[in-house]
Amino acid sequence: MRSGAAGISLIVAETNDQLQGFERGRVLEKVGQHGQDTRELFFSDMRVPVRNLLGEQEGLGFYQLMEQLARERLAIASVCSGMAEAAVLEAIRYTKEREAFGKPLIGFQHNRFALAELKAEVLSIKTTVDYCVQSYIDGRNDPATASMAKLIAADKGVSVVDRCVQFFGGYGYMMEYPIGRAYAAARVNKIYGGTSEIMKEIISRSL
Ligand SMILES: Cc1cc2nc3c(=O)[nH]c(=O)nc-3n(C[C@H](O)[C@H](O)[C@H](O)COP(=O)(O)OP(=O)(O)OC[C@H]3O[C@@H](n4cnc5c(N)ncnc54)[C@H](O)[C@@H]3O)c2cc1C
Repeated sequence: MRSGAAGISLIVAETNDQLQGFERGRVLEKVGQHGQDTRELFFSDMRVPVRNLLGEQEGLGFYQLMEQLARERLAIASVCSGMAEAAVLEAIRYTKEREAFGKPLIGFQHNRFALAELKAEVLSIKTTVDYCVQSYIDGRNDPATASMAKLIAADKGVSVVDRCVQFFGGYGYMMEYPIGRAYAAARVNKIYGGTSEIMKEIISRSL
């Protein structure tokens, strides 16, 4: 039996409740993204036909996964970019509508400046993501560039959504408002698809 990366192969498991060795864990109670159910899947001594191997030969699984990770990271970066932009648009809308001390929230210079900063940050996230998506389309996407897109879009995106919550006061902390749900949903972007620390590790290999 091969060890390390060479010992990994991708195999399609055609699962159903009768398949011996296959088990679904309970639905995990996530902080956000409640529209998706997330579970652990267990494969214990499960037997699958040899023909279910993905690819030409055994032992390529690690490399097959690596090939697709850059694309997954770009997809997550794009989601972060959209999420940050939507949060800022929602905050602009709300600050024009909600009044405090006799004027709309956006009438206070502090809030206008904060929104101006957020709008500029969203442009910087979008520009980075667009550049990386174009690299992907041109076949120039490498793991370090995709990791840079995810690192910047996730870290900045989460920060933008967090600061947008503030304009909503107490409403911002309620799950019944889109901004509250965005806050809870955003955080995982710094974790899944490879954590921000792992993104830095990958980028550092290109130095
Ligand atoms: C909602 C959700 C959905 C998910 N969906 C999927 C999925 O569909 N498929 C899938 O395969 N996985 C999925 N995951 C798993 C996810 O990719 C992992 O949780 C993530 O990669 C982090 O791995 P870990 O949880 O083992 O953390 P760990 O590896 O234990 O890391 C813990 C901490 O240590 C840090 N750390 C680890 N190594 C280093 C290092 N070398 N240098 C510095 N810091 C380090 C990490 O950055 C992190 O901060 C999902 C997770 C969540 C929360």
